[in-house]
Amino acid sequence: MKVFKFGGASVKDAAAVRNVGTILKSQPPDNNFILVVVSAMGKTTNGLEQVFEQAFQQLDFTSALNNLKQYHYQILQDLFTAQHPVYQQVENLFQQLETYLLTVTASDFYDKQYDQVVSYGELLASVILNEYLEHVEVPSTWLDCRPIIRTDSIWREAKVDWNLTQNNVENHVKPLLQEKHVVTQGFLGGTFDGLTTTLGREGSDYTAAIFAHCLSAQSVTIWKDVAGLLNADPKLFPDTVLYQEISFQETVEMAYYGASVIHPKTIKPLATSRIPLYVKSFLQPEAPGTIIHDCRHDKIAPAFILKQQQCLISFQEKDFAFINESNLSTIFAALANYRFRINLMQNSAISFSVCTDYDANRLHLFIQSLQDHFTIHYNTGLTLFTIKNYDEPSITRLTKEKEILLEQRTRTTYQFVSKTGIS
Ligand code: ASP
Ligand code: MG
Repeated sequence: MKVFKFGGASVKDAAAVRNVGTILKSQPPDNNFILVVVSAMGKTTNGLEQVFEQAFQQLDFTSALNNLKQYHYQILQDLFTAQHPVYQQVENLFQQLETYLLTVTASDFYDKQYDQVVSYGELLASVILNEYLEHVEVPSTWLDCRPIIRTDSIWREAKVDWNLTQNNVENHVKPLLQEKHVVTQGFLGGTFDGLTTTLGREGSDYTAAIFAHCLSAQSVTIWKDVAGLLNADPKLFPDTVLYQEISFQETVEMAYYGASVIHPKTIKPLATSRIPLYVKSFLQPEAPGTIIHDCRHDKIAPAFILKQQQCLISFQEKDFAFINESNLSTIFAALANYRFRINLMQNSAISFSVCTDYDANRLHLFIQSLQDHFTIHYNTGLTLFTIKNYDEPSITRLTKEKEILLEQRTRTTYQFVSKTGIS
């Protein structure tokens, strides 16, 4: 059994959906059936976030919702004739969504309501893709993943209940895969009481890994609009290098530092069951792409990773006392409490600095909670640069003409925080 994951770009219009059909058709016929995980089409998730935001603020969301309808109906018209039952299915989904949107209230339950709305992107995409596959005689069946991937109710960042999920996959998904390909949604899960959760933005890769782990799949392939796993974002760096083979460990670390190519949670379930992960281009399906697996390799090309919208916060004791362990534990407790992840930290005699993702609202509350103890300064709009497996030329290249606010290096990793990003 194999798992394929198609992201938003790979189903962004009718031509893209056809291409997915071609990829599935061209799989060796002796192959077992494939579990296909699909994300929302194109930029639908962003569109749904906008619709939800308006509904939450009790504003008129009709126009934003109509844009999404038009976008999906255009794809339907390009793929199917007017009589096809898929129109009714899509209409039903939009109707359910609209009915829900009218019940959205400006309450404390922002995240909970967000999940109920934003999940429609994947529901729509999976219905359309499944119908299209059947239409071109690729045998497939649609699966609602929400009763299968059981999660807690930490909305927008739900945690998987592995035991229940494993059982559900065993009982309800494996049998389906004996007969046909299965098309299901990325990014979604469900609670015990039937509500929808999401696994975090860009979480469909993670979904593919969850299914692969529970199915003991032979491999996972993530189909992308780039050739494979690259050493930098090609939108920012003109001369990227493709890693042909790379270890789980190396990939996890890159994802941790902010490489956006794979969702950071994806690797663990694969690594623990030693399932190889292929990253391939849906534009060049024949090309080998990257294989990420349990392997050792020599030093690889330096990876350039950027995290934008960073904030550097520094703390000093009010009376110029030294920063000690007790101060640090106060700071760490507050960081954890306000859910700030430390991307980089450093301490000196009288000050301690952390670099975190910027969130205006939480930062304000965080600072308020500590301002009796410390003098706190912060800078926003910063970029955290990481070079993994650096060499001197790579450092020279990246630091050129940049004002560096903080810098750190270990044996394998060089990082700095700067006011200047890359345009
Ligand atoms: N559609 C979701 C998002 O855009 C999940 C995903 O694409 O992986 O965040
Ligand atoms: Mg997406």
